[in-house]
Amino acid sequence: MSEAAVRTTCAYCGVGCGIRATVTGDRQVKIEGDPDHPANRGRLCSKGTHLGETVGLDGRLLHPMIGDKRVGWDKALDLVARRFKETIARHGPDSVAFYVSGQLLTEDYYVANKLMKGFIGSGNIDTNSRLCMSSAVAGHIRAFGEDVVPASYDDLDAADLIILVGSNTAWCHPIVYQRIMAARAERGTKLVVIDPRRTETCEDADLHLAIRPGSDVALMNGLLAHCRREGLLDEAFLTAHVATPDDFWDAIEEDSDLWSVAKTCDVAPADLKQYYDLFAANPRTVTLFSQGINQALRGTDQVNAIINLHLATGRIGKPGAAPFSITGQPNAMGGREVGGLASTLAAHMDFAPENVARVGRFWSAPAMATKPGLKAVDLFRAVGEGRIKALWVMATNPAVSMPDAGRVREALAACPFVVVSDVIADTDTGRFAHVRLPATGWAEKDGTVTNSERRISRQRGLLPAPGEARPDWWIISEVGKRMGWGSAFAYERPADIYREHARLSTYQNGGARLFDIGHHAAIGNAAYDAMEPNLWGGQPFADGGFSTPDGRARLVSVRQAKLADPLKDWPLTLNTGRYRDQWHTMTRTGLSPKLARHREEPLAEINPEDAERRGIAEGDIVRVATPQGESLFRATLSEGQRRGEMFTPIHWTDRQSSGGRTGLLPRPLTDPHSGQPGFKSTPTQVEKVATE
Ligand code: SF4
Repeated sequence: MSEAAVRTTCAYCGVGCGIRATVTGDRQVKIEGDPDHPANRGRLCSKGTHLGETVGLDGRLLHPMIGDKRVGWDKALDLVARRFKETIARHGPDSVAFYVSGQLLTEDYYVANKLMKGFIGSGNIDTNSRLCMSSAVAGHIRAFGEDVVPASYDDLDAADLIILVGSNTAWCHPIVYQRIMAARAERGTKLVVIDPRRTETCEDADLHLAIRPGSDVALMNGLLAHCRREGLLDEAFLTAHVATPDDFWDAIEEDSDLWSVAKTCDVAPADLKQYYDLFAANPRTVTLFSQGINQALRGTDQVNAIINLHLATGRIGKPGAAPFSITGQPNAMGGREVGGLASTLAAHMDFAPENVARVGRFWSAPAMATKPGLKAVDLFRAVGEGRIKALWVMATNPAVSMPDAGRVREALAACPFVVVSDVIADTDTGRFAHVRLPATGWAEKDGTVTNSERRISRQRGLLPAPGEARPDWWIISEVGKRMGWGSAFAYERPADIYREHARLSTYQNGGARLFDIGHHAAIGNAAYDAMEPNLWGGQPFADGGFSTPDGRARLVSVRQAKLADPLKDWPLTLNTGRYRDQWHTMTRTGLSPKLARHREEPLAEINPEDAERRGIAEGDIVRVATPQGESLFRATLSEGQRRGEMFTPIHWTDRQSSGGRTGLLPRPLTDPHSGQPGFKSTPTQVEKVATE
């Protein structure tokens, strides 16, 4: 037992708060905020505060399992390697896939990406981060030539105006919200919230625009047209640093008068005018966005509409002025850095032939993937259609979290070989696994994570690995060795992997501008162990240079899509999201009785007029149905819901309740650029089933 506090990182969200964890007894840990961590400066939200309640061994997967039989590591790893090799030999490299997670550490992610893209020879590794921020990735690449988030949390402190778009920051990124509140108190920073729902985040805002869902492009284009009319564009910056397509201003000017925009967005013209005036008066503007923008069928266009505004008014590359996409998971950003998305290769590079050749040389890879792989929704569709015959799911629960989760379960059940490596013994996805491999949990892991602002922090193990649990990087490397690539995966500790990743990030990049990921390739083991939180990339774009071939950013022509009328049989629109004190599919937060008190069950939020029309009262049990599936919820009536809209939370699974199964409901439709599912707009119906 140790009384010394270990400096590590909260394992929940992409804010990436530093914690000091002290082992106080047998599997008992005291958690405090780290006052020296720049992300949170000692603050913690409710989830972080109760992180110590998740280190017990109840429900842990402690031994490798083949079916229901406990086996040794050698037997399990040999079987995984043999089945993947046999499948590849018979059906080719694209017949196998990895589906990974923003819960993995950067070192885990790097090894998984290397095995699939450099040695198996397929791009078929995608991540659950596809579901939460891939439209931001696609938007950054379109505008900047590289996936770089051009903001840091310090910009929130320096801004005069913060615009939160599609983000219930108060609940989903609580420490970021606390920093915004502190800036308001200290500096009088103005706050605008743009969200169809009236959430807790709206309570302290100067202005809440409850726009019609899907009208974000009209709103941003309308503001940009207003800026042009009022002479608010940064003409010098545009001339020197930005490429403007010929049709750009035609797209922006379309239906751009204030009355037309107010009508499209269904907001009061006076409120819209207030938004325009706040923007005009405060050049230091941060526009922070998350799932309400990204999880839309035109999410990438929505991202670019926001970035266009910042580029055209020169609100980028300066303190307090940036578009800022914040990530959901603790290491979604680390996954992006190493190429853990099917659409990127490695180290922010795409699949351009010179990049494939460069990475292939660096890895001495026998079989480089030459094209992107299948993105999450398409990947599981390929599993269901029998094109993917061996699948390895790492640290995630797609049987609950994917859209049209019922269809995903059918696909998993039909797949000839499914491997699940996880901390938890009985996940909804693990029930379909032929082999389950026990991974170490957050308090036992060693490596790095990168948060929403690109800050790299250490995750440090403080407890011994229980049972036979092993780190994910070790498990993946052992399979790589057994598939015949021993020297490429001969890592002894995470620092070895980190150093290799750091070298690759700057390896022979031929003068092309890729933001240095800021690692130190020569870092020794002692320096790695002592690493302090490290912000890579500094202030991106401060010199006006971008990562495109000509060094200029791109304005992207985006037009507002026609907004669909409600369908006769599915007259409501379902929006999905998170509760303050739950996380993903509750495998950790479900262990904390204190967190459960915030919301004891999943509630379907309905506008009172929609409820009255259907005879639904507060507390009734209702059936929420879509063409994909249905589930029971308790109803709650909320003026915060627009008429015609509903909301359900994403967290509950069959392990916690028979109802509240949101994952069964959304359509498996995706944004054409990013492949991100449109979770926010599923045609839905609701009916009362019982009165409580
Ligand atoms: Fe953890 Fe996120 Fe809360 Fe910070 S804001 S303590 S990272 S859950």
